Amino acid sequence: MNALDWCFKKSIWVYHVNAGSCNGCDIEILNVLTPYYDVERFGIRLVHTPRHADALLVTGPVTRQVKERLLRLYEATPDPKLVVAVGSCPTGGGIWHNSYATLGGLGNVLPVAIYIPGCPPRPEAILYGVAQALGLVPQQVKKQEFVEVP
Ligand code: SF4
Repeated sequence: MNALDWCFKKSIWVYHVNAGSCNGCDIEILNVLTPYYDVERFGIRLVHTPRHADALLVTGPVTRQVKERLLRLYEATPDPKLVVAVGSCPTGGGIWHNSYATLGGLGNVLPVAIYIPGCPPRPEAILYGVAQALGLVPQQVKKQEFVEVP
């Protein structure tokens, strides 16, 4: 299901959440907001409270400490809402996938609609994920579970 099916006819306002990120992905999110990439041409706008947001843009591997706050942010976001995982960390835990301090990825805590892998993902990849959420392009990648080789 894409975002248009959820009645986001004109624009999606997003709230950025750092769930234990190293800031690499966060910098790339700022990058797509600059005039060079200009994500606002798709109607995407960064807002400063989850109560105004249609989507949560989450970076980081989701640490145990941040889990409760993340759930409160999700509850504070009005329905219908999208959760977008930006980076390899929220996609599957990244290099922290088996750390005692993290929860192995955002999908273990919240229902994720779009995964944008990469460490960090290029601005073009973030734009592709957004375009996918808007139903402008078909999905070409799927989430894969990490399997440890014995
Ligand atoms: S995916 Fe890479 S750049 Fe992004 S938060 Fe994780 S370690 Fe940092």
